[in-house]
Amino acid sequence: MPHKITVEHSFESGHRLPHLGGKCVSLHGHSWSVAVTVSAPELSPEVTVVEFGALKVGLRRWIDEHLDHATMLGVQDRLIAPLIAEGNRVFRFGVEHPADDAERFGYGLTWPTVEAVAVLLGRVAESVLAGLPRAEGAQVERVVVRETKLNTAVYEPTAS
Ligand SMILES: [Zn+2]
Repeated sequence: MPHKITVEHSFESGHRLPHLGGKCVSLHGHSWSVAVTVSAPELSPEVTVVEFGALKVGLRRWIDEHLDHATMLGVQDRLIAPLIAEGNRVFRFGVEHPADDAERFGYGLTWPTVEAVAVLLGRVAESVLAGLPRAEGAQVERVVVRETKLNTAVYEPTAS
């Protein structure tokens, strides 16, 4: 697609990956960053792909409310109950029928790997985009999530 815009955000979250073994079994945190690119075949009558500010506000609001200063855990993780009991904010990945509407974006993603976070935020971005005035055919093309300077995952929803 010829027209692309990118919005970025960052957040502080903990996670752990007990299914992988090694050092990722331990609960640890990262300063995560995300960049979402939306593309369109033609610009809208307002000469935009989508209004930057509105997309940025929608994405940032969701991240700040659900992931920032939270712990991201797989739904099978035994740390969920004790952390919630201690008043921690927990975002569960891979919940089948979530009571919390936000957790529906994590369906099928059983553990909070950086790849899973990229898919999660791609779904969130698609949902935000769907509620905004936008160019015809505008879509989330790429989500880049960085958990450390050295580890980055890319999710391209429309790639096959
Ligand atoms: Zn990590």
